[in-house]
Amino acid sequence: MLRIPVIEIFSSIQGEGPYVGYRQLFLRLPGCNLACPYCDTPVAASSKLKIERISGSRDFEEIPNPVSLSDLLKLLQSFNLNLHHSLSVTGGEPLLWAEQLDQLLPRVRKLGLKIYLETNGTLPGKLALILPWVDIISMDIKLPYAENNFWQAHQEFLRQARGTKLFIKIVVDRETDLASLEQARSMLKGENKAIPVILQPVTPVRGLRPPEPKQMLQWQEFMLKELFSVRVIPQTHVYLGQL
Ligand code: SF4
Repeated sequence: MLRIPVIEIFSSIQGEGPYVGYRQLFLRLPGCNLACPYCDTPVAASSKLKIERISGSRDFEEIPNPVSLSDLLKLLQSFNLNLHHSLSVTGGEPLLWAEQLDQLLPRVRKLGLKIYLETNGTLPGKLALILPWVDIISMDIKLPYAENNFWQAHQEFLRQARGTKLFIKIVVDRETDLASLEQARSMLKGENKAIPVILQPVTPVRGLRPPEPKQMLQWQEFMLKELFSVRVIPQTHVYLGQL
């Protein structure tokens, strides 16, 4: 039977993007294929998964990792699922575990929970495997960093995700360059101008600085010249002290 390593399971509010404020059950999986300079997420797998049985208590029970898919399903069912808008499958990059998710997600959906996938949008082949089980995709467009760019993978990912409810998140900071935003805009325009886009000012970590107020407004205006919906939403859970 397939097993899967898990970092943590908890119930909280969605702090980013257009679903901000919805109550979600979060399943955080380890590992990532990228190394974004603003990454604030612990991605390493450990020999124990953490589960917050009482939401907001910060009292985590530890359970040996990896877990079987049926044990994981039982852990998810230990929460009051009726409270939750969806299961947020997050990471790290959760698509690294697509084979396991392909078996887990249909069983979660049978429990009445929608599947909300948070992904860096660079593993289109893996997405194809679980797409039938995914209700909403929160896809990042990663602007180039350290001489890496992800345009081709993003393009293919968008193509693969056609027909699924999807929105785009682009993290911007004070050093973001207009040429990168232009490339993102042109890719999205070519795919579908109606895809909702969220510009997310970086949360200040490790010396990174959020955009100046003027920059933020200019970039939103710039994106809106070619796209229908471009909103600016920061990471709200950070301000609220939520996980
Ligand atoms: S894709 Fe997400 S988890 Fe991976 S390094 Fe970037 S911010 Fe961190």
